[in-house]
Amino acid sequence: MGDDRRRDELAANLDAVRRRIADACDDAGRPDDVHLVVVTKFFPASDVRLLADLGVTDVGENRHQEAEAKAAECADLGLRWHFIGGLQSNKASAVASYADVVESVDRAKLVGPLSRGAHGRGHEVDVLVQVSLDRPGADGRAGADPADLDDLARRVRDAGMLRLRGLMAVAPLGEDADEAFARLASVHADLLSQHPEATVLSAGMSGDLEAAIRHGATHVRVGSAVLGPRPQVK
Ligand SMILES: *Cc1c(COP(=O)(O)O)cnc(C)c1O
Repeated sequence: MGDDRRRDELAANLDAVRRRIADACDDAGRPDDVHLVVVTKFFPASDVRLLADLGVTDVGENRHQEAEAKAAECADLGLRWHFIGGLQSNKASAVASYADVVESVDRAKLVGPLSRGAHGRGHEVDVLVQVSLDRPGADGRAGADPADLDDLARRVRDAGMLRLRGLMAVAPLGEDADEAFARLASVHADLLSQHPEATVLSAGMSGDLEAAIRHGATHVRVGSAVLGPRPQVK
């Protein structure tokens, strides 16, 4: 596809997503101040470049190697890079060397390496703690147990080079997103009572951003509604 056609497609999709966000804020009686993070995983740096030109300021990636390469290739664009994927502790330090926000911190073991990576880079890195909204015992849960959040948040706060900014979550498959995000809102309120600086709530994707905004999301992470369907994961 030519660059011009791709640009037109991304522009139209972005307009539609921005309108959905504005409408959802309106319906929820909130000001239209929800931040859009465009998830560019699986799509080329050329798309990131077009998005930046269309006014996108924040992009999300979920795999370290792909994210590192794209962030380097797009270093001239002044974007904020959000790391939103599962993190291995042996990669955490490297992720903190290019990510401006690490949204997927779900266990204490990541805190030391992330802080060291931030230190090596010479400035603080924003952190969101990822909480699991799965029912206890569900398979493949991503995210910390809500009961462990306060401890994890303290470790992030005390690490030195990390700035605790808030919470991230993904609605479980097969559950009504409104119910999951209602639980998330109450988990966030608990966290805020202990950590008033943790104001960010990153929730909502292409399929459920309206529900997330109803329940207080400050950031939505939208991939396919902007970029189109992703190639199948092998
Ligand atoms: C891929 C991904 C998204 C975006 O999903 P879409 O359904 O394409 O909008 C958001 N959050 C996380 C954690 C992701 O991995």
